[in-house]
Order: sequence, then C-alpha cells, then structure tokens
Amino acid sequence: MERTLGQVADMCGGRLLDSAFAGRKVVGVSIDSRKIGEGCLFVPLGGSKADGHSYVAGSLQEGAAGSLWQRGREGAPGGALIEVDDVLEALQKLASAYLLASGAKVVGITGSNGKTTTKDMVFALLATSMRVHKTQGNFNNHLGLPLTLLAMPEETDVVVLEMGMSDLGEIALLAKIAPPDLAIVTNIGESHLLNLGSRENIARAKLEIASGTKPGGLLVYNGDEPLLPLVLKELEGTLPEGLRTFTFGLGEDNDDYPTGMMQRGGGMTFTARSEGDICFSLPILGSHNVTNALAAMAAARAFGVDAPAMKEGLAGMQLTGMRIERLTGVSGLTLLNDAYNSSPTSARAAIDVLAGLEGYASKVLVLGDMLELGENEREFHREIGRYAGRAGLDAVYAFGPLSADSAEGAREILGMQAVHAFTDKAEMIGHLLANLKPEDAVLVKASRGMKLEEVVYALRDEP
Ligand code: ATP
Ligand code: MG
Repeated sequence: MERTLGQVADMCGGRLLDSAFAGRKVVGVSIDSRKIGEGCLFVPLGGSKADGHSYVAGSLQEGAAGSLWQRGREGAPGGALIEVDDVLEALQKLASAYLLASGAKVVGITGSNGKTTTKDMVFALLATSMRVHKTQGNFNNHLGLPLTLLAMPEETDVVVLEMGMSDLGEIALLAKIAPPDLAIVTNIGESHLLNLGSRENIARAKLEIASGTKPGGLLVYNGDEPLLPLVLKELEGTLPEGLRTFTFGLGEDNDDYPTGMMQRGGGMTFTARSEGDICFSLPILGSHNVTNALAAMAAARAFGVDAPAMKEGLAGMQLTGMRIERLTGVSGLTLLNDAYNSSPTSARAAIDVLAGLEGYASKVLVLGDMLELGENEREFHREIGRYAGRAGLDAVYAFGPLSADSAEGAREILGMQAVHAFTDKAEMIGHLLANLKPEDAVLVKASRGMKLEEVVYALRDEP
C-alpha cells in the first residue's frame, strides 16, 4: 500500500491532528510495535495484557510514519497522530477503503471445516492466470481479515479471504468490510456449537456471507448439507439482488460432484461432472478435500480459468500445514498430522482417510478432545469413538478428559485391548513409541487447545 497520512486519515474516518504531516508517505500497517517497519502506520490495539497506546511514542521514534490514536485518550505524544473514534473500526474502514480503491474482486470463504484448505485451492487455481492475494495462515477474523487486505499489493486482481466466526454477526461484519463477488460455504459442522446452540444457528451464521455478497454475485455452497437450502429459503427476500447459486458435494443432485474418485499415494485423483473426462489430482487425502476442490473449481470457473489450468493449479497447490499432512515418522512409519483442530465432522472425515489407507499393518488413531461443543459434548465424544471403532481401525489412543468418553465408545466396538485412554500426554507418547511399528499408519487429531502436535513431533523424533 502506498498512501499519504492525509489520505489514510480520510480512508479511516479519522482526523490528522497536525496537518504538517499530511503529505508523509505510508507504506503499510503494523499492529506490533516490535515489528514496526520504516514508513508504517502503527495501529495501537488494546490487548488483554497491554494497550497499544503505550507503544505509540516508541513506534514513532522507531520510524513509523504515524499512528492512530483513540479520541479522548490521555497522554497523546506530539507528532503524526490520526485521531479516531475506535482504533479497530478505523483499521477495518481503512482496509475496506483500500480494497475498494484497488478494484480487486473478492472471494470470501466460510464454513465449519475446510476454509483454509479451500482458500489455498482457490488461490492455486486463480494464480495460474491472475494476480491473486490470499489470507496468510488462518488470519480469518475481524482483525486478521483487514490486515490481510492491507498487505495486498494494489494491483491485485482477486483477493481470496477466509472468513471465520464463533458467533452470529461476525461473518456479516467481515462481509461488510470486504463484500464478496463470490462466496463459498464449505460445510456446516458442529464447531462453535457452544456459542450458537444449534446447527441451524451455525448455518444462519455462515449464510450471513450470502446476505453480504454483492448484487449479482455467486454463492457456491455444499449441497450435501440440507440446512443450507433451508436457511437460504428463510433468507428469501433479504438476499442481494440477482444472487446466483451453485452447489457442490458428493451427492449427484448437486450442480457438481465427483464422477470418479481414488486415493493415490499421498493424494486423490478424481473426475468431476462439470469437467467431463479430465482427471484431476490433488496432493492431499480425503473425499472431503475433493469436495473442497469442487468448490474451488466453481470459483475458478467463474473467473474464466479453464480445465487444463485447473488441473495444473490443483496438482501444484501449496498446503497450509497440519491439515491431514502426511509425514514420515520414526523408523519410517506413516504419520497423518491433523492436529490443527477437531470437531465431530472433521474428525469423521479424518478417520475416513485413515480407514481408507491400504497396505499398512495397523491403523492407529490418536484422538484428543474436541472443545467448545456445548452441553452434548460427552455424547459427541462417545459417538466419535464408536465411529472410529466401526471404521475398522486397529487401535485407538485417547487423550484428555472428554476423550475418556471417546475411548468408551471405541471399546464398545473394538474391545478393551485395542483402546487406551490417557490423561498424561508424555505417558501416551511413551506407549506409542513402545508399540508402533514401521509398517503402521498413525493419525493424530484433536482440537487446537490439546496441542497434539507434540505427539507428532515426538513420533517424528523432533524436539
Ligand atoms: P478453522 O475454523 O480452524 O480455521 P478451517 O475451516 O480453516 O478451520 P481447515 O484448516 O481447512 O479448516 O481444515 C481443518 C480440518 O478440517 C482438516 O484437517 C480436515 O480434517 C477437516 N476438513 C477440511 N475440509 C473438510 C470438509 N469439507 N469436511 C469435513 N472436514 C474437513
Ligand atoms: Mg482456517
């Protein structure tokens, strides 16, 4: 980004306190005073431990072009300050104005699972022929999304934004900051059930993206989920004018579905109804990733990407780590690292991947707690244990207080011998190291808070 401080003040709805600085150049934005670059605008956000305003003076000394400052706050240092009513809102307004001026088209991606993966796929497909910018990692909220926009080169054709939420109203805000030309809803699961109370409310929260899409825009959604058309019906009359829809999924009543699908090595090959005989390959496992790819392909098609380019883009896509990441572990065993996060829907998807592997002596599941599921959390855990048992896995290692219920569920089907429950991670790791063989495959899956990547590191023999 390249603007003057005067322009930045206008864009964020603030007031430059000393007009002598109006012509000073701003080349970017930083919320971290330790990483302030020469010519950046410092954005002093309130943190749980420290308020960014304490670092404004220091940032200006370190070379910041200027800083935002909350109106009415005592202790403003002299210099290049833009006074605003609310610092976070000012950052969001600035990002929105920058996006509008850039003319970049927006692909907004929400859903309970698969947002980051689908975002990486859309990026890979569009980058074959366009200048594309995407959310880095998981920067998908009211703060990460504006920062993503402000890090975008001005001459971007399409920006691909992950839009996350944990409650109603949050996607609406993100879609207001960056109204999508094309919106994707990957699926509806159970994540954030604790806040939202029901799957219907989760669908309502996700479909705020439909209401926020530009008139004449395209909504691409998972047609295997019956709640989505139901909630869309509820929204009839309030949706943007001319909104078009396109459905994808495994079901043959969708606009696009896989007509053939195979697991090959560390990835998948598939053909799709939409593209005839062309065989696509994906460097990532799971039928859920094939449906994520169909969603991404629908977006790419809307931007004029042809099938050969899609094939090349998908095959070469860069994955964000810890999403069914296939690794080699100690003495050559196969590890599937899915420790980034978990919920019943994504745990079932991952278990299906492990169960579908061929040529292994034992298929071993290491399962940690799924957090924030609300009042039925114990039943969800018991059910996922039963699911693992029915999938025909050879052993289940359950870690955490809730996973004791998963272990119970798995024991109903696999018996006592094959299922081990732990409350001590180190003890579980010791057990795994003593029992795993080079010809085994191990899937590690848990919610973020359980930090089961520590198991992956131990099984990879890394610190
Ligand atoms: P978060 O809300 O944590 O940002 P996300 O929606 O970005 O998650 P990803 O990071 O892409 O999701 O994937 C997280 C995990 O969810 C994956 O490792 C995979 O196990 C599972 N997953 C991905 N796509 C799907 C899908 N379409 N259906 C079910 N599970 C999925
Ligand atoms: Mg994500």
